[in-house]
Amino acid sequence: MKIRNRTLLAVSGITLAVSTLFSAPAFAWGAQGHRLVARVAETRLEPAAKAEVERLLALEPGETLASVAPWADQVRANDPDLGRRSARWHYINMGEDGCVYDHARHCHDGNCVIEALKAQSALLGDRNLADTERLQALKFVVHLAGDIHQPLHAGYGHDKGGNTHQLQFNGRGTNLHSLWDSGMFYPLQLNDDQFLQRLLALPAPNGVSAPQLQRDAGQWAEQSCHIATRPELYPRGRKIGDSYAATWRPVAETQVRLAGERLAALLNALLDGH
Ligand SMILES: [Zn+2]
Repeated sequence: MKIRNRTLLAVSGITLAVSTLFSAPAFAWGAQGHRLVARVAETRLEPAAKAEVERLLALEPGETLASVAPWADQVRANDPDLGRRSARWHYINMGEDGCVYDHARHCHDGNCVIEALKAQSALLGDRNLADTERLQALKFVVHLAGDIHQPLHAGYGHDKGGNTHQLQFNGRGTNLHSLWDSGMFYPLQLNDDQFLQRLLALPAPNGVSAPQLQRDAGQWAEQSCHIATRPELYPRGRKIGDSYAATWRPVAETQVRLAGERLAALLNALLDGH
């Protein structure tokens, strides 16, 4: 059953990638990117955290950490009120400010990826709350841990994290944000299992330890911002192709792997059974 579900997910993910690659404004890593963050994390979960994740996911039979990972990007369609409230939880704009996070300046109302990840993590870790509330928090945590590592989710505000930076990639219209979400990955034509193996074969990333989110969430976003603001990341011309992808795809893949490793460390710390 699980295998069949995964196959279906992989197929629908590819279809989704094809259908969304050159269209709507991108909102996050593509669904496949989010699933892969979760898949990497699953390989690193300790028994207590794994058991608690599975206990919460059992409230919605058939779901896995990977299958719920893209949920926060779909919530607008299913729950418009929550979609509106959480719309700014997916990103933060601090490229214009040298990538130095200032809570009062960038996120005074808590509606940015840094503070939302902290807040949802606190809900997930609070065993006095109802399981339904903690499951929703888990869905946000697995998603936002991905978004905070997508460099263009912490970049410049003037171009909406590259969303208004129009490009042609291999002759097809897109924008810089969408290219980083999914467009650079699409030519690989990998299903989730294949892509997971590719990511796990990368060198183990530095900077993974039991997180102290009050400090670390800001640093994670700042690191993403430093990537997003590298001058070369914005291509000189508007027509780009495989050479751009060959340069930057390894950076994007490293970020997905790092996101998964840090997500696991976070879940292990939050759900350690004590
Ligand atoms: Zn998102």
